[in-house]
Parts: sequence; C-alpha cells; structure tokens
Amino acid sequence: MKKKLLLVLAIILCIIGAVFYIYDYSSDEATQKGGDLYKTVMKRGYLIVGVKTDSKPFGFIDTGGVNAGFDVDLAHRIAKELFHDPAKVKFVAVSDSERMYILNLNKVDMVIATMTITPARQNFADFSNAYYITGQSLLVRTGSTIRSLADLSDKNVGVIFGSTAEQTIKFLLPSAHVMGYKTYDEAYTALKSGKILGITSDDAILRNYSMKDGSVKLLPKKYSRDSYGVAFRRGSESSYMIDVVNNVISDMDNQGEFIKLRRKWQLD
Ligand code: GLU
Repeated sequence: MKKKLLLVLAIILCIIGAVFYIYDYSSDEATQKGGDLYKTVMKRGYLIVGVKTDSKPFGFIDTGGVNAGFDVDLAHRIAKELFHDPAKVKFVAVSDSERMYILNLNKVDMVIATMTITPARQNFADFSNAYYITGQSLLVRTGSTIRSLADLSDKNVGVIFGSTAEQTIKFLLPSAHVMGYKTYDEAYTALKSGKILGITSDDAILRNYSMKDGSVKLLPKKYSRDSYGVAFRRGSESSYMIDVVNNVISDMDNQGEFIKLRRKWQLD
C-alpha cells in the first residue's frame, strides 16, 4: 500500500516537472518556448519591446528618465491596439550589436530599434512592413575638407558596431580606417575631439546632432536606402503578431499618424 502511494506520488511529481519544463517559467522570458507570441503577450497583459536609448529622436531617455522617441511611440501605439491602453508596454534597452541576440534569447517580444530590414538579417528575424525610410549619410565637423565618403580614404571614420553602415563603408571604401563605437554619443565625442573625421550612419539619427550643434554638419548625399522594420523571432510563433503590427502600420499610414509622428520628432 505504502509502495503504491510512493509510486503515485513519484508519477505526480514527474508530471509537474514535465509541465514546468515544457512551459519554462523563467521570469525574464518574453515567450514560452514554442508558444504563439500573440497569445503569450495577451495572457501576460503587456508588451516587452527592445528599444534604443542612444538614438534620438527614435529611442532615447528623456529628461524625466522615461523612454521616448518615434520608435517608443510606435510601441505605445501597438500596445493601444492590443490592450486599449498605450501604457501596457515595458521597454528593454538594446544596442545595435545586441538587438538580434536579445530578441533570439526571448528577452523581448519584438525589437523596434531603428533596425533596417536586410536580406542577411532576414535569416535571423522576421520583419514587419517598413514604417520609416532613411538612408546612410555622413556627419563631419563644420569646416571639414571631407565632402563625401571617398574623401575618407586612409582616414578614421566612426560607425556604430553592428549597424548597416559598418558593412556599407567597408564595402564602398575598404581603404577607410573604420572605428566602431557602441553608442552614438561615444562616436559623437570622438568626432568632436578629432579622433575621427566623420560618422557614417542613418541620416535620420545623425541629423539630430547637426540640428543641436553648429560645430558639426550633415552632408546631403545618401549612400543607401534603409527601411526600418519591427523585428520578431523567426517562425510561425510570430506570424499572427506580425499581422497585427502590419495592420497598425497601415492604419497609421492611412490615418496620417506617421505624418504627425514625423512632425513631432522633427523628422520632416
Ligand atoms: N538602421 C541602421 C541599422 O539597422 C543603423 C541605425 C542604428 O544605429 O540603429 O543598422
């Protein structure tokens, strides 16, 4: 009788263990393994979104210590669609080089981080439709003799680690000395001190520096066409959520919400 009881107890413990293993209840996981992203998010009651904190005006920390910017507003708009409450979103800071890794570690539900949709990235993530178009350009010191990327041959130029511009300049100008920085502010400090002669990245992000500081200027030429998309883990788990986000993007387009956002963040 006692043996039977112990056996039943052991079976119950095994079942409980298996359930915990399948659902993996570790607290920082955005998605239960193999689960549908939309269902997981709705059950949790809020979104977890990876955003930049150094990329004004897309993702930055405002004077009140709160996440702000174009990408942050898009995240709030998606939360509004899902929960009828734009506040139902938790932000996780991501950098260019870490955003794909953080996404695939299940730390976030999606990444909205000035991320260009590229064929190489599509091997590791699924993307929404494009929500913003920009292009790679070059920020230099005012009065600099550098007038284009070609003038940077054998010169130091700054890029952000993991950005599309890092790849593009190595391809377009292999003779440039490319120096990588983790954040835009670090690259900007290096430009101001003369350590590098230019920073190459998205026009939409670099423009923020030339707008607030007359000692640097943005050259008008664009070297690429970059479409920003919301990134998701690859596979069917994300497909319904991608549909939801694509609907939000097309509604925002049709209802003039993106125009208002571009105006709000001085992007037009
Ligand atoms: N859009 C570019 C990229 O996805 C660069 C912008 C950024 O620094 O995030 O690599």
